[in-house]
Amino acid sequence: MAVPKKKTSKSRRDMRRSHHALAGSTYVECANCGELARPHHVCDSCGHYHGREVVSETTATA
Ligand SMILES: [Zn+2]
Repeated sequence: MAVPKKKTSKSRRDMRRSHHALAGSTYVECANCGELARPHHVCDSCGHYHGREVVSETTATA
């Protein structure tokens, strides 16, 4: 079994974990309804994407 030869110092361990913090999810304003929606995703509230309706309103709200 592979075993680390040296103990990882607090400094090295914490430097590695500096990348582990979760970034907050980003949102853009929907061009159709103005609600905040995830970029490159169909709008949750109106079902529009890139200027056209992809999911009908009834389906989007259900
Ligand atoms: Zn929308």
